[in-house]
Amino acid sequence: AKSVILRNVTKAFPGSIQKQVNAVSDVNLVIEAGQFATLLGPSGCGKTTTLRMIAGFEDITTGDVLFGDSRVNDIPPNKRDCTMVFQSYALFPHLNVLDNISYGLKIKKMSKANIEKKVNKVLTVMNLNDYKERMPAQMSGGQQQRVALARALVMEPSVLLFDEPLSNLDAKLRLVMRDEIRRIQKELGITAVYVTHDQSEAMSMSDQIIVMNKGRIEQIGSPQDIYQRPQTKFVADFIGTANFVEGHVLDIQADRLQLHTPLGEITAIKHGEFTKGQRVTLVMRPESIVITQDKRNVARVTKSVFMGQTQEYEIELDDHSFQVTISNPMGLRGHQVGDLVSLDFPEQAIHVIPA
Ligand code: ADP
Ligand code: MG
Repeated sequence: AKSVILRNVTKAFPGSIQKQVNAVSDVNLVIEAGQFATLLGPSGCGKTTTLRMIAGFEDITTGDVLFGDSRVNDIPPNKRDCTMVFQSYALFPHLNVLDNISYGLKIKKMSKANIEKKVNKVLTVMNLNDYKERMPAQMSGGQQQRVALARALVMEPSVLLFDEPLSNLDAKLRLVMRDEIRRIQKELGITAVYVTHDQSEAMSMSDQIIVMNKGRIEQIGSPQDIYQRPQTKFVADFIGTANFVEGHVLDIQADRLQLHTPLGEITAIKHGEFTKGQRVTLVMRPESIVITQDKRNVARVTKSVFMGQTQEYEIELDDHSFQVTISNPMGLRGHQVGDLVSLDFPEQAIHVIPA
């Protein structure tokens, strides 16, 4: 495996310069060898363009892409030691599974015996031994995606690139394939760069998530970092559900912040540097807010939805509407619309970011 490094990478498509927005702007990124990194963000934020620059399908306007120590800007895609798996599978429709998978090695003029050995290994890893003779049209979407993955793996690339590879599969199969891709990537120790707009896919597969917005990187971190310590409102809002309360810093202790908010004074654990008087946003996840019965700050349930594992509430406190999620104990009746309850915001539940 090789590391993938992007240094000040920018992409301006011809004609799009007037809009003053580059498809990708000044992206800096280090993906360690063997790591699974995911580019995550809404449609149009520049994920595919970034991936295509790594692959070599797209020229880099300014900046450098490195594989390990070597700059690959001027190296054509087929010489870059990486392969790409597409959302649309992109199998050759007139070739059976065996020939689809062997194709790249034949082009490389590898010996027949060698090809057979490598292809058989991949067929076994991908559970495709019974499908060798099938044509793509005779297979389900999931099976076709397996073949596409096998065709990429057989090349034994140092870097594997994925552009929303599971988007065309049904929900259940997507879950199975997530685990499959992750298992194979770890087993073979390949560096993976994965593109998705699906946050749960990113959370469940990645060592490192790169959140993008409008061509720029918003935050890089582990799934835990991104979810528990979002650095911007955009990240907090895009990944999971977030409640926001505006306020300012009243006082700073060694590891605590005293905050003034429309809900009164609130204490939060301090992460990062703040100054007295600074305007801040409090971020609270729905599952970390606690519903109590102590009638201190009386709130009204305005929505109550049974979701099986959880009960999801909308609860109004003063002028604020909060999303609150409680795991559903078996047999216990949840709160109903109109119920009066009390909300508690434990200090470890509050993440504070600059407003
Ligand atoms: P994503 O994969 O995150 O949905 P893309 O990388 O495909 O986003 O696109 C990023 C931006 O670049 C979008 O505004 C898109 O319209 C623009 N773009 C992508 N490809 C081209 C192209 N070939 N020519 C001009 N603009 C493009
Ligand atoms: Mg895309």
